[in-house]
Amino acid sequence: MKVLYSFILFSILGISTFAQGIVQQTLNSTNKNPLVGCGSHDLLLKMAHAHPGRLQKANDFLKSVQQDYHRSARYSATLYKIPVVFHVLYNTPDEDIPDAVIEGQLELLNEAFRRQNADTVNLRSDFFSLVEDSKIEFYLANQDPNGNATTGIVHKQTAITNFGGILPYNISQQTQIAQWVSDSLFYNFFRITKDSLGGDNAWDTAQYLNIWIGDMTILEPQINNAEELVFFGLSTPPVSHTNWPTATVEQFSGLGDGTLMHYQAIGPNNPVPFTAPYAVYNGKANTGKLLVHEVGHYLGLRHIWGDGNCSVDDYVDDTPRAGAQSNYDCNKNINSCGDTITGIDLPNMVENYMDYSEGDCKNSFTKGQIAVMRATLENFRVDVFTSIQTHNFSQSEVSLFPNPTFQNVTVTFNKILEKATVQVLNLTGALVHQQNVTNVDQTIVELPNRTGIYFVRVLAKEQVMTFKVVKR
Ligand SMILES: [Zn+2]
Repeated sequence: MKVLYSFILFSILGISTFAQGIVQQTLNSTNKNPLVGCGSHDLLLKMAHAHPGRLQKANDFLKSVQQDYHRSARYSATLYKIPVVFHVLYNTPDEDIPDAVIEGQLELLNEAFRRQNADTVNLRSDFFSLVEDSKIEFYLANQDPNGNATTGIVHKQTAITNFGGILPYNISQQTQIAQWVSDSLFYNFFRITKDSLGGDNAWDTAQYLNIWIGDMTILEPQINNAEELVFFGLSTPPVSHTNWPTATVEQFSGLGDGTLMHYQAIGPNNPVPFTAPYAVYNGKANTGKLLVHEVGHYLGLRHIWGDGNCSVDDYVDDTPRAGAQSNYDCNKNINSCGDTITGIDLPNMVENYMDYSEGDCKNSFTKGQIAVMRATLENFRVDVFTSIQTHNFSQSEVSLFPNPTFQNVTVTFNKILEKATVQVLNLTGALVHQQNVTNVDQTIVELPNRTGIYFVRVLAKEQVMTFKVVKR
């Protein structure tokens, strides 16, 4: 308990934004549209403030990743695979999210990280050259820490009705609310990661990505007749990311390293969608994209708007700056900051998983973000993944014709493929077209109108094949 209490004594600077956010939500809740999103950045600031200079080191790491990435930009042939354990904590039976929903969520997570989701076609062409398959995959753990066979999903009943806890103040007590957020809220949330506090202990966080699912609401009995604030999720930053002092690592790992998710924010096909007055969250927070966002944080990413105005960066060079988060909208007409990427002032990238845009809006990670996630694994979460070298299809397994072509080409597989991605890249390696296919042995691939040389890349599970195609 001593360790836990020292965690909550972290000082209050760095949580002020979040505190203001909570206060703002309580004010807004009269219009029945309160939005409380992701707590990852506030948690990072809270941790960093305990050790002055550490945030700067974290930022320097991100900058160095971008420099390395620019020096050695290349297509990685190595697939990183991460075992995942889901801890489902439920107080009432409807909070006990079924395995089928979790399996669907994991499938969506993989599609997003492998850029195999059908909605990648909605990405504006301005961004095509910036995005890529991360070559990071997740699978349900098949062995528990004791070496026993497992489904990778733990279901456990808890006496805790809501892990956010109870806000004991009214709206006129904003200073006290801010203090409560600082002292109690994160501690409340992280109870879900400890057996002794009504949660479920982590599996070795060095070996598994732990994802806890539970009721993350915060009750506000003194505001709006006990209506609640729904908190969607948060992830811990990679702890050794900034060479945290040992004491901090211990404090933090004592509270569980991984991702915490509200049970209604798991998707798609969540069996208990939000109801009034929170039905507005449906389609925003339970499309399955929120977990993609949170795992992005777990792998070291910041929000795309840098949690600040145009002067604040996310330390990723190929994400356009944004003056603010996009408020669960999908407005493609905003260009809030004048910055240039490859010589172009790009609009806000609302399609990015690290924005707060609507669920269906989000479909991409940039290459710079992928560099951060892979470098985070390689440097700070070194035991959580295994590397698998992708290998080429043999020539008898996949073929392409005609080549040269005047129009399109047809890719043929020697057997029906469950799932594959076909990409068209230009001579500089920029993605110009992508299509995902399922259960096919043949697909027609669109080439751009312009004549020239293109690369057609076929990706399936751990196999890849690239054809050089001449368009006449
Ligand atoms: Zn976030």
